[in-house]
This record gives sequence, structure tokens and C-alpha cells, in this order.
Amino acid sequence: YSKLRFIFGDQLNASHSWFKESSQDDILYVIAELSQETEYVKHHLQKVVAFFAAMENFASALTRAGFHVLHLNLDDTKKDPDLVSLLTRLARLYQCDCIEYQFPDEYRLKHQLEQFAINSDFTVYGIDTEHFLLPFDEINHYFKYDKHVKMEFFYRAMRKRFNILMTGNNQPYGGQWNFDQDNRNKLKQSDLAHIPDAKCFTNDVSSIVERLNRHAVNTFGKCNNTLLWPTTRAQAKQLLEHFCENLLAHFGQFQDAMTCQSKQQWTLYHSRLSFALNTKMLHPMHVIQRVLHEFKTRPDDINLAQVEGFIRQILGWREYVRGIYWRNMPAYAEKNHLVAKRDLPHFFWHAKTKMNCMHHAIEQSLETAYAHHIQRLMITGNFCLLSGIDPNQVEQWYLGVYIDAIEWVEMPNTRGMSQFADGGLIATKPYTASGNYINKMSDYCKGCHYNVKEKSQHTACPFNSLYWHFMLQHEQQFTKNPRIAMLYKNWQKQDSTQQDAILKRAQWCLDNINEL
Ligand code: FAD
Ligand code: SF4
Repeated sequence: YSKLRFIFGDQLNASHSWFKESSQDDILYVIAELSQETEYVKHHLQKVVAFFAAMENFASALTRAGFHVLHLNLDDTKKDPDLVSLLTRLARLYQCDCIEYQFPDEYRLKHQLEQFAINSDFTVYGIDTEHFLLPFDEINHYFKYDKHVKMEFFYRAMRKRFNILMTGNNQPYGGQWNFDQDNRNKLKQSDLAHIPDAKCFTNDVSSIVERLNRHAVNTFGKCNNTLLWPTTRAQAKQLLEHFCENLLAHFGQFQDAMTCQSKQQWTLYHSRLSFALNTKMLHPMHVIQRVLHEFKTRPDDINLAQVEGFIRQILGWREYVRGIYWRNMPAYAEKNHLVAKRDLPHFFWHAKTKMNCMHHAIEQSLETAYAHHIQRLMITGNFCLLSGIDPNQVEQWYLGVYIDAIEWVEMPNTRGMSQFADGGLIATKPYTASGNYINKMSDYCKGCHYNVKEKSQHTACPFNSLYWHFMLQHEQQFTKNPRIAMLYKNWQKQDSTQQDAILKRAQWCLDNINEL
């Protein structure tokens, strides 16, 4: 072969122009399980298994389509300490003079390959993944280094650029850009019965699990030899169909709702498409067009607020956080604006906590490698923010636990949006909430050991006192923000005995964080 083309585990895009070239005889495609990718953080078992299974299936599909493919598992690569040594060994073995790759979406891999290109005897070069909607070299046009960029403006620019939900005269369809105020309902008891069961696959992954055990790959979480996540493009498309047919109609309406009551409906109206999107089995424009098609064909069932709400996540948020990541790396990875230093509590690894909301969000994450956005942001993320947990440790957990966690998307969401460690590059104010918000959006509090109405007693909801402790700790900088300044008036309304009792309770919670 004259060319070796390396495909990462999150580059399973069969529509890439690589595969459209007519002459393929002298090209060898390589897909490889590598210990460097299992070790950079401690991953959830389902995450490693899902990536490895999807890679194996992609390699088989390419082989069936007539491409020359080398799929290597951990047994085959055990003597290769890293990607660079694997590529060097294979290029020599197959006498290739050129190594090509698609640009990785993670800074660490991009850096590794750029160094390889400089130091290698082979011609090494990368090309676009052709996955994202905003071309990589236009990121600098939309995003400024270390500066806040409003997501809403970026999203509107993307709507116009791709002519999505626009009228002929360049105005937003329906007269509004954003229908958020129509969304965000709590689930009532009577709503629960209508939520469709989560669509789960039963992919046999026993051989991969056995291989990971044999190689003593250090993981956490459960798997049970069958995997509920899609591992082929066909399955990813089935999940998309399931979403459009059964979930889209209520997506926005219950986007922020949380419940611990429904075991079979644990994904509520969320699409769970993030893994399929982030591995590139599905293209974001394909998802958007499919949703628009459903809207067009079922105008009586599906309203604009649901469709706009969903498209904003993919055309807006997903592209936006990628822009923030690349424009601000590598400095972004070091940010700790609030100088948070506390260790992550142990219960993040086993879910044994008396706080029902935390117990449920963590337990579900450990069982399924998934939690929806508000569970990530307003339960676990909110708790870490209020408790001043070191953002490096918070990030290690999020990067490890979630099926869709790849650094370009996990880091801005965790370090930025949820922990405010970027000082407001993403969020203009920290996403904080006391138990009141959690009670409003979920049914967690009813079954909780703690009382959501209490603030200072020993049975008081920890979120209530931690909220005020956090707000006062950072009062000097937050009062400058008019959106937050008003909140301090509520604090001042409380008498000093009550204030002292709340702060004492918060300190007790922090000193005994592992016991909560
Ligand atoms: P849905 O609710 O059905 O939304 C549809 C799609 O929109 C998602 O599949 C996703 O591709 C996209 N999307 C929605 N919100 C965001 C967002 N904030 N950023 C980027 N894309 C978004 N998402 C990841 O893909 N990987 C991560 O590692 C990740 N880590 C997160 C960590 C924290 C602390 C928070 C608050 C959010 C994180 N998110 C992450 C964003 C979001 O929570 C997930 O994309 C979403 O929960 C995935 O589930 P879903 O496919 O059912 O999403
Ligand atoms: Fe969570 Fe507090 Fe509600 Fe318990 S009472 S579920 S700790 S918000």
C-alpha cells in the first residue's frame, strides 16, 4: 500500500470523501483499539465497549464495501505503547510512504499527530472530518480568544447560514428565534404514563468485555455483556426514527424535567443521539433534516417550539461549544476562575448518598453511562459548583462516565457552563440553584431523606445552605453582574440569626461532604 489512512473511534463516518475516491487499491484503512485511548481517563465500561463495538462494526462495513481495512484489537496493539509507534510500525510493515488522518476533535490527539508529522520520515497529513457544520478554519471568525460569545447570536447566524427554520425574507420561521419560554414544564403524575419506553439495543459485547478484562483495562460502571447503545449506523438511524416518531412532539416541553419514578422511561423525551452524533455515525445535518421532515409531515402533532428547541441544541449548542473549545485550547483546560479546590466526594463513584436527586442522577449514570442535560447541569454539576469541587476532578468524572464524553464537547460544558471555571466565557452567570429549583423541576424531593423547605436544620436540604454559602463566598464578583445582584437582596431580608444558622449548616455539609 502506498497510503495508510488512520480512522479514530469517533470518526465512523461512512460518507467521508475518503470513501468516495475511485482509486482505493493502494490504500489501507486502519482502525485500532489502543491502550492510550483507554487510559487517558478512567472510563465507564459501557463507554469503552460502545466505542470498540462501533469501531469493529464500522471496520466490517468498510470491508464488506470493498475497502482494504485492518482492524486491530487490544491483543494486536499490546506492544504499541501509543498511536505514533503503531503508525510507524504499520507504515513500515506495509511499506506505505504516506500516512493520512482526519483531524481529531481533541487537542491532545491533534498535538500528538502534529508532532508526529514534524518528526516522522513519512509524509503525514490530516484533512477535515467533514462532520461539523461550521468549518474548522472559520472558528476564529465567530469566536474570540478568552472572550464571551453569545450562543444566541451564534445560533441565529447558523440558522441563516444553513437556511434552517427561516422564511423567504431571512426572518425566523414563526416570528421568533427562540421558543424556550414555551418549554421547560415539570412532569405531572398524569404525564408519566405517556412517556414512551426508552429504546434500548441488546448488542452482544461479551467478547469485548472479556478482552477488556484480560487486558486489565481500568474502568468503572456496569455493562452485563449486552449494550443498550447503538453500535452501527443502522441502529443509530433507528434511534433517530424512534425519536422523531415518539419523542419529538414533547421534547422541548419536558426538556428540563426530571423524575425518579419511571424505570423504563429513564430517557424521558431526550433523543440519546449524542453517542451516534459524536462518533459521527450520524451527521448533524441529517438529524436536523429528519426532524424538519417530521415537523412538515405531522404539523398537527408537532409544534414549532419542540422542533426549534431540538434544532437549537444541535445547530446552536453543539457547534458553539466546539468553537469555544478550539478557540481557547490549551489554556481552557487550566481554567479555575473560582479557585475551587475540594476533592470530588466518594459517592460520585457509587451513588450512595442520602440526597435523592444526587443518588438518582449518579446511579443512572453508573448504570447507563447517560444522564440528560439538566441532570448533568443542575444536579451533579450544581452540587459540585456550590461545594467548590476542583474542576479537574469534576471534569475527570464527566469525561469518564458519559457515553458521549469527548473532550471537545465535555470540557466546555463541564468546566465552562456547569462549573463557571472559565469565568463566564460560556455562561454569563453561574448555573446555581437551591433545592427549590430541583423540587420545581423533579419529583426527587418527595422521597428524600432531607427536607427541601428547610435551610439550617440538620435535616435541611444541603443545596439550600450550600447555595448561600457559595453566593456569599463570591459576592464581590457576582454583585457586579446585574442579573445576580438582585438575589443578594433576598439574603439581606433574612435576620442575622437565620443567616448564621444557614452558613453554619453549609459549613457542616462541606466538612462532612462524604456523609451527605
Ligand atoms: P438531547 O437532549 O436529545 O439533545 C439533542 C442533541 O443536542 C444531543 O444529542 C447533543 O448532540 C446536542 N446537545 C444538547 N445540548 C448540548 C450541549 N450543551 N453541548 C453540546 N451538544 C448539545 N454532551 C456531549 O455530547 N458530550 C459530553 O461529554 C457532554 N458533557 C456534558 C457535561 C455537562 C456538565 C453538561 C451540563 C452537559 C454536557 N453535554 C455533553 C451536553 C448535553 O448534556 C448532552 O449532549 C445531552 O445530554 C446528550 O443527551 P441526548 O442525546 O439525549 O440529548
Ligand atoms: Fe435533592 Fe434537596 Fe430535594 Fe433532597 S431535598 S432531593 S437533596 S434537592
